[in-house]
Amino acid sequence: MQLTNRSKNVVNKKMSFAERIYLVAIAKGMWITLKHFFRKNNTHNYPDVKRTFAPVYRGWHVLKRDANGAERCTACGLCAVACPAEAITMTAAERERGEEKLYREEKYAAVYEINMLRCIFCGLCEEACPKEAIFLTDRIVPSDYVRQGFIFGKDLLVEGVEPEKRVDVSVRQKHIQEKKQAATAAQ
Ligand code: SF4
Ligand code: SF4
Repeated sequence: MQLTNRSKNVVNKKMSFAERIYLVAIAKGMWITLKHFFRKNNTHNYPDVKRTFAPVYRGWHVLKRDANGAERCTACGLCAVACPAEAITMTAAERERGEEKLYREEKYAAVYEINMLRCIFCGLCEEACPKEAIFLTDRIVPSDYVRQGFIFGKDLLVEGVEPEKRVDVSVRQKHIQEKKQAATAAQ
């Protein structure tokens, strides 16, 4: 089956003198290089110059708390099931008496981990969550030298209790809703 018409039949014919000296090929290559030399530079001087990301950029996840500071996640596992990269693992635990302020429901994730090396930032975990507990954000996952550094546990995923440590996902969510509505209207 032919998918494109770009395939070429290779012929083992003898090269001509012009082909053997490669001057034409070199000139062609130099011309391409020269054209790029005068084009607008697309590289960014990161970290001095940062690119503006799309408002719906999918980066480092956050596990949200409710208005009272309790963790929303109930360790139902739907995000892990939805994850095509099998990047999410968790261990569920029962909420003890007196822990009502820490966890919103009777069950919570004692351990919740995302392997950022496996994650493809598709956002399916966010869509699968029935508790609005996990969201992707516009934060970039920082680089590291060791693989273990990319296993993000609750210490790196759950937002802080204090107002200044909360992670605002409203702007990104608003853009996502607008895009969905526009797509529905176009159908
Ligand atoms: S963004 Fe996609 S790949 Fe990453 S953890 Fe969520 S579902 Fe898995
Ligand atoms: S983040 Fe949401 S989907 Fe995933 S375990 Fe917690 S409540 Fe369930």
